[in-house]
Amino acid sequence: MPEYNEEDFLLLSGIQHFSFCKRQWALIHIEQQWQENLRTVEGGILHEKTHDNTIKEKRGDIIVSRGMGIFSRTLGTTGTCDVVELHRNPGGVNIFGREGTFKPVPVEYKRGKPKENEADALQLCAQAMCLEEMLLCEIPEAFLFYGETKRRLKIMLDEGLRGRVKTMFQEMHNYYGRRYTPKVKPNKSCKSCSLAEICMPKLCKNPSVANYIRKNLLEVTE
Ligand code: SF4
Repeated sequence: MPEYNEEDFLLLSGIQHFSFCKRQWALIHIEQQWQENLRTVEGGILHEKTHDNTIKEKRGDIIVSRGMGIFSRTLGTTGTCDVVELHRNPGGVNIFGREGTFKPVPVEYKRGKPKENEADALQLCAQAMCLEEMLLCEIPEAFLFYGETKRRLKIMLDEGLRGRVKTMFQEMHNYYGRRYTPKVKPNKSCKSCSLAEICMPKLCKNPSVANYIRKNLLEVTE
């Protein structure tokens, strides 16, 4: 796998956008058009809490590290982990500034409840792959915490999930290199898309897509 230079790193959180809709990812990460709606604002508040570096926590043999900066040269990405739990373990790895050895376990916080798609799992897996590369360790499992259910969901980081993460980053780098924004393909994600208002005017240029909007507007106003 090729290695990327820092100046070519893409934002890790983008893998969520990319798996939701490739066009949405391109609008945000290539065209830099972003629109905050309630969903993202609420999500942001939860993230502000989890990214507060002043919160330090130690629970028995677990050290909780918040807002850890991460990167991967092979994926060509950089980002931040909400939480990395460092579980004291004789088979673990050395962590700078800490005595003993630890097994790192990433935990990603989400506002809502578990989704039907695997966007959250892809992001979590990418975080774990960064940590593995940085700390020279293996992370077989990680957790998603959902604000609505207040529950942790264990995610097994198997080869299939890792393969999809790699393929998506390769595709994102390909798109980014060509500054390519995919054309509109109306899909079921559009109704909950935070960029719909930015994407929609472009949709109107296409007659079949204009029909789609009319249909959706009628549904809303009826
Ligand atoms: S409105 Fe639909 S096509 Fe446009 S960015 Fe959102 S999900 Fe993608």
